[in-house]
Amino acid sequence: MPDITAVVTDPSLSSAMIVVAHADDAEYGCSGTVAQLTRRGWDVVYVLCTDGSRGSEDRDLSGEDLSAIRRREQIEAGVILGLKAVEFLGYPDSFLMPSLELRKDIARMIRKHRPDVLITNSPARELSNNSYIGHPDHQAAGEAALSAVYPTSRDHLAYPDMLKEGLEPHRVQEVWVMRSGDDANHIVDLTDEDLEKSISALKAHTSQVPSDVDDRVKEWKARNGERHGVKYAESFRLFKLG
Ligand SMILES: [Zn+2]
Repeated sequence: MPDITAVVTDPSLSSAMIVVAHADDAEYGCSGTVAQLTRRGWDVVYVLCTDGSRGSEDRDLSGEDLSAIRRREQIEAGVILGLKAVEFLGYPDSFLMPSLELRKDIARMIRKHRPDVLITNSPARELSNNSYIGHPDHQAAGEAALSAVYPTSRDHLAYPDMLKEGLEPHRVQEVWVMRSGDDANHIVDLTDEDLEKSISALKAHTSQVPSDVDDRVKEWKARNGERHGVKYAESFRLFKLG
């Protein structure tokens, strides 16, 4: 039986970093959880790997302009959710690789913000859904984030240059990979307030979300909740790293 909302009762945890590929990924995948965490006083930081410069069908909009719009939308969503910071790594959208450069940039963010918990995309390509094959940037962000957690943000010999900048090694306590499948072992029971706040944050991404996004997200998170015996849920694969 998955562990329902164990995190919010664990007094040793009080901060989280969300590492995702694109503006709106976190709002779709875990913003109800983020709303709950900030409501409970956690410090939460977002790290956006790409510049969001590709996600539009508008031929009159340049990649640069789109990137600026999506950046503003993400900051607005962050204000709604009560984030401590939103960091933009600025890699080109749609071409993200789990490179050593990306791993280092994420490790730098981990050392700077020192989160107890890191939440990220799944590094695996999903083949169980008949209508969605997954986005390569999501896999790259997840893979690089997990590799940044272990071992590179932990080991002082990994980046001597960071030590000179005052960025000391940091051990993340838990990793939560966003998962809705059967291997999810950590279920966050969302209140109506959490869900409403997460939808408000999602709707800040005006350039990206469809007009019926409220209904879609409610239905999706209710279906996930039903599987786990709660009204609305977001689910994760949790790793306790100690
Ligand atoms: Zn995405």
